Amino acid sequence: MAVNQETLFIGGEWVQPASSNRIQAISAATEEVLGSVPEGSPADIDRAVDAARNALKNSAWATATPEERSAAMHRFADAIEKRAPQIAEAVSSQNGMPIIMSEQLEAGYTVGLLRYYAELAKGMELEETRPSPLGSTTLVRREPVGVVGAIVPWNFPVILSMMKIAPALAAGCAIVLKPSPETVLDSVLIAEAAEEAQLPPGVISWVPGGRELGAYLVSHPGVNKVAFTGSSTAGRIIAQECAKLLRPVSLELGGKSAAILLDDMDLNAFVQAVPSVSMLNSGMACFSCTRILAPASRYNEVVEAIAAGVSSFPQGNPLDRNTVVGPMASSAHRQRVESYIAKGKTEAKLVTGGGRPASLEKGWFVEPTVFADVDNSAVIAQEEIFGPVLSIISYKDEADAIRIANDSIYGLGGTVWSTDSEHAAAVARQMESGTIGVNGYMPDLNAPFGGVKASGLGREMGPEAIFAYQQYKSIYLMG
Ligand code: NAD
Repeated sequence: MAVNQETLFIGGEWVQPASSNRIQAISAATEEVLGSVPEGSPADIDRAVDAARNALKNSAWATATPEERSAAMHRFADAIEKRAPQIAEAVSSQNGMPIIMSEQLEAGYTVGLLRYYAELAKGMELEETRPSPLGSTTLVRREPVGVVGAIVPWNFPVILSMMKIAPALAAGCAIVLKPSPETVLDSVLIAEAAEEAQLPPGVISWVPGGRELGAYLVSHPGVNKVAFTGSSTAGRIIAQECAKLLRPVSLELGGKSAAILLDDMDLNAFVQAVPSVSMLNSGMACFSCTRILAPASRYNEVVEAIAAGVSSFPQGNPLDRNTVVGPMASSAHRQRVESYIAKGKTEAKLVTGGGRPASLEKGWFVEPTVFADVDNSAVIAQEEIFGPVLSIISYKDEADAIRIANDSIYGLGGTVWSTDSEHAAAVARQMESGTIGVNGYMPDLNAPFGGVKASGLGREMGPEAIFAYQQYKSIYLMG
């Protein structure tokens, strides 16, 4: 694939960018240049926010009924579906996600999510009349919150964008999307699809750029709500800015989730699930269970089985359909992961991996790595590494396992493994986390997703996400 995009998508048109700066997309596996797009600048954000405000005041979007919004969203889903193979290839080439996964999640799940919200939009009641205790009635309205500044990272760039765009469209908002500079060739396809779906001008604009541009969007006076996914560090900065502006914000941030293996678990089933639960997208997934809590009575057996499983995962070009572990998304990110591995070697016992695969000369690969004898207070057990690096921690009894799982600044994901799923669910109830899987893990688009503690504020997905893009208005009908 070679894409050289000359224009930005703003106000329903492909327009010349305000500056001549460009963002290059680089292949994580071959280190070759895949293409480039314009880098947005503050003047482009100004235009996009103006167009979004205009769409909410003067376009067909402002007066669209829930049914009309729903139809537009289905057209948008059709246009994304048409581009599914390009989306999967663009994501996998840029950030190294195994293609099987990008097909399922970045393309397939994205379309499913959009259609799910299109259906919710269709039947949405926007006004309700309530009797008041005073004898009068009150009209309670749900109105769109307004212009949404959506800022996303590079690890699941399309689905994370759609987790904001779809409920925001269902609510009747307009969106300015700022993707991460590491992944720009996928979101241009979202913009193309928005154009093909004939969403009214300004309902979705596409302005890629780095953190300064993101910060500019967050504090823009024309933005009514910020929806952010990314690191907890950036999330804190954005939360402070939004606090100053009294601007609603939702934050999906980092994680360091635990998999609790109860002593009656099926170890083989867990090892089979490691690629999706603990090393999804080569570990570059916010909810990865990278802390594996094993009962002391089965500790050695667990370490051996996981090490054997992990070292057998096919690693290579993400476009190869057999690949289970791809490269890191960028050279800088690989360095970060490697510095954690170096730290881990001083804190725990390296059981497998720890280096770069000798057979892969190009690309930002890191071997799938397992550390044993890890204390939960170790840096590798406390900090988000965002790579294929697992820490296996021993626990004494169930209470100890729950204590260790909760001894983290984060609370995004988690899993519990047991042949008694009711018992596992009872343990899950005691975990301080926004989402937990029993004998597996996959976010359900019909249920709220998000974190507690340093993992974020607010929820995406499920009907609940729509409320984050609406505000209530009460009209007291006194006479
Ligand atoms: P990052 O925070 O560096 O950047 C994320 C996005 O925010 C990028 O588009 C970036 O340009 C922008 N940005 C950075 N600083 C900003 C600022 N001060 N103001 C406005 N915008 C700013 O994160 P990353 O390294 O790109 O992504 C990885 C992180 O994302 C990990 O911590 C991961 O856990 C997290 N993540 C969370 C979820 C979730 O749902 N909870 C999902 C995926 C990724």
